[in-house]
Amino acid sequence: MSRVGTRESALADLAVHGGRPVRQRLLSYGHQIIEQPDIDAVVRVLKSDWLTTGPVVAEFERAFADFVGARHAVAVSSGTAALHAATFAAGIGPGDEVIVPALTFAASANCVLYQGGRVVFSDVRAETLSIDPASARNGLSERTRAIVAVDYGGQPVDLQELTEISRERGLTLIEDASHALGSTYRGRRIGSIADLTTFSLHPVKQMTTGEGGVVTTDSDELALRLRTFRNHGITSDGRQREAIGAWHYDMVALGYNYRLTDFQCALGLSQLQRLPGWLARRSEIAQRYIEALSGVPGVQPLAVQGDRESAWHLFVVRLVPKRLRVGRTEVFAALRAENIGVNVHYIPVPWHPYYQGLGYRKGSWPAAEDGYENILTLPLWAGMTDADVDDVVAAVVKIHTAYTA
Ligand SMILES: *Cc1c(COP(=O)(O)O)cnc(C)c1O
Repeated sequence: MSRVGTRESALADLAVHGGRPVRQRLLSYGHQIIEQPDIDAVVRVLKSDWLTTGPVVAEFERAFADFVGARHAVAVSSGTAALHAATFAAGIGPGDEVIVPALTFAASANCVLYQGGRVVFSDVRAETLSIDPASARNGLSERTRAIVAVDYGGQPVDLQELTEISRERGLTLIEDASHALGSTYRGRRIGSIADLTTFSLHPVKQMTTGEGGVVTTDSDELALRLRTFRNHGITSDGRQREAIGAWHYDMVALGYNYRLTDFQCALGLSQLQRLPGWLARRSEIAQRYIEALSGVPGVQPLAVQGDRESAWHLFVVRLVPKRLRVGRTEVFAALRAENIGVNVHYIPVPWHPYYQGLGYRKGSWPAAEDGYENILTLPLWAGMTDADVDDVVAAVVKIHTAYTA
């Protein structure tokens, strides 16, 4: 067959043009793993006296802190609550500026607005799509108080450079490690390095409590502020008062009810035990993708840096426009038609209508914006089989062949 003829038949084979899809059922980009020990642990707490603010919260916090190597872990009701607690603990208030990467989930920036602060969006590094320390430095002013650095996809940010900037300028370094539970930077677990590190326990993340979040810190003072904040700004909890037979309490700050229940913490404890195995499986799947895609020039995985280990929340690829005859929109639709649940992480936060209304102008973060136009997230979760991974690769190769330039 002629080259044109081959291409025509490759195009006709695509599910998006009526061909047979690579899979019969959609493979989602992320999914939780719930097994019998998780269910048993939750039921035990449901049958106990304490559904919330009981002993299992402290047990989970201790185990989580030990896992990441921090002095303190404070459990809260979501990753977003963790970020809000962190900006509160860092003392962010009206007039304060906080540096946040433009390419992240909206919650990384919203937590600054909750406290009345102003977000200064920073660009990212094109190879990793993580915050660019040079761009962060450019955003500094007299009013800068903190940096929210996001471990994009699970690969840790440039912690040495960001720590240096923070120390020089007296800033609080908040690491949004929603993607990075189990990641390491130069041999140290994420959660033990920044002033405050936040995690999300949403079902698509490395482990889950349904909804849930954790903030870790080595500072006794910051930990106390976090604990007060998640409980209405009150300095003691009900169980502590019951233990000493007292009724008096003080509300010392404007806090929220951001508590995590005991049955969620029981799920968390149970999941934490199997996390190391899940992290190993995530890494194995990522390596299979990297190897398989080395022969697919139009679809490039992000750069992996040798001094850090990713917990692989997301497997993000960048489409190479000059190698393909179609754009991201068409490739996305074609992969979905093959029943591969690809996604896009993320629309730049300042592009959202709410942030546009605050006056941010498109075009100010070239690497983040160009990255956004060309990225796709391939399915990656610990419960995927090798056959699932092969399906994703087969679909990518099929589409690449049909659309190659
Ligand atoms: C998931 C996520 C959050 C928010 O976590 P929730 O638990 O859903 O509130 C914040 N930042 C980033 C980068 C995330 O991926």
